[in-house]
Amino acid sequence: MDHEEFRRRGHQLIDWIADYRRDCSEGAFPVVSRVAPGEVRGRLPGAPPLDPQPMEEVLGDLSRIILPGCTHWQDPRFFAYFPSNSALAAVLGDLASTGLAQLGLNWQASPALTELEELTTDWLRQMMGLSDHWSGVIQDTASTATLVALLCARERATGYGAARGGLQASAEPLTVYLSSQSHSSVEKAALLAGFGRENLRMIAVDEAYRMRPEALREAIAQDLERGLRPCAVVATVGSTATTAIDPLAPLAEVAAAHRAWLHVDAALAGSAMILPECRTLWQGIERADSLVVNAHKWLGASFDCSLYYVRDPQHLIRVMSSSPSYLRTGADETVRNLRDWGIPLGRRFRALKLWFLIREQGVSGLQTRLRRDLAHARWLAERIDAASHWRRLAPVTLQTVCVRHEPPGVEGDALDRHTLAWARRINESGQAYLTPAMLEGRWMVRVSFGVEATEHRHVEALWTLMQSAAAAA
Ligand SMILES: *Cc1c(COP(=O)(O)O)cnc(C)c1O
Repeated sequence: MDHEEFRRRGHQLIDWIADYRRDCSEGAFPVVSRVAPGEVRGRLPGAPPLDPQPMEEVLGDLSRIILPGCTHWQDPRFFAYFPSNSALAAVLGDLASTGLAQLGLNWQASPALTELEELTTDWLRQMMGLSDHWSGVIQDTASTATLVALLCARERATGYGAARGGLQASAEPLTVYLSSQSHSSVEKAALLAGFGRENLRMIAVDEAYRMRPEALREAIAQDLERGLRPCAVVATVGSTATTAIDPLAPLAEVAAAHRAWLHVDAALAGSAMILPECRTLWQGIERADSLVVNAHKWLGASFDCSLYYVRDPQHLIRVMSSSPSYLRTGADETVRNLRDWGIPLGRRFRALKLWFLIREQGVSGLQTRLRRDLAHARWLAERIDAASHWRRLAPVTLQTVCVRHEPPGVEGDALDRHTLAWARRINESGQAYLTPAMLEGRWMVRVSFGVEATEHRHVEALWTLMQSAAAAA
């Protein structure tokens, strides 16, 4: 492709994306893709083309074959999982990143990539009201950030044991504390970091699904009695099922008493902290050792953009650094080499999408949108609370509402079947997308707000749809 064809096709593709986003915001597609498993692949040749194909055809297949196989995350009627916004300004930032094609192996390999990442992570730090004791870096996902955090916890507890015999040389097994409401990525990270399932403790939660500090204290006391060594506590601010907020201040107290690392998973809820009125929710955050916030969820920086913050960057660097001769430069003493701030060597210019987003929206624009979404959740919660046979199952701390329709006489497994039936009815209708999830062994339905295009009328339409689906199920 020469530059002139790129220019022509590029304009065409931008038009295509603009049309797609407009159609999406008008609800032109069923929210959930209707393709059957294997259908997308079945419509494409199994073998690669031997000869060049015209871009015209490639772009045509994008509309004809790829689009029907997409579930529309930017549709205003998408209330599933957590929102993964990709604001149009961020789309342009991402395009600029790909176009510039930088690879941040070290500072010299792309000074702008390194310094814009320092700047944007610091901007978000300020926006969330965090002190300047935090240093940030962009990781791909919260899953990776949590793995990095647990590796750092392990190395602090063992005095950099990886440089000696590693965990295999350790006489005292290290323990990690999480809760039944922690994201599955926490358990996965702990297992990958080598702690071993036997050394993970699922701490009990209270009636609002928050980790109980007393239960943590007791679990640690028992482990100490058995000769184990408390290594890390992972607290969640905004759990996946119900957006429960673990009480950071008392958890930090317990962790500090045993010199355990405190990692905070605020993948979704970190965005809410750009609202000063939300910050009491994470009181105690300054006592954590590490924190992850997904700017690619509610905030609107296109996936992937997880901001990982630490209090002690020197420790992170010591755990993560590798310095082969060909990567060393004369500037190393004075600059950040972000390869030493995480697992991968190579790094995309992810900061651009965050920079575009924050500049185009302004902090106030982002705040206004997030406040709108909090109001959507409160509005639906009020309707549910006032309706007969509907039950809200958890406090609405942020933008997610957990709900069940409980017709008289329908209980136990029959109630589970009813819940799954009305949720399926909605999802198959193409008119909205909700996620059923288990809470204390029973199915419920999560309604998660926060898609950029969602307006109040979509929330009203959803409530109408929920009532008719539940009546028909
Ligand atoms: C979304 C989410 C994750 C996982 O995020 P990835 O970036 O996809 O790894 C982890 N924890 C919480 C609380 C989440 O909401």
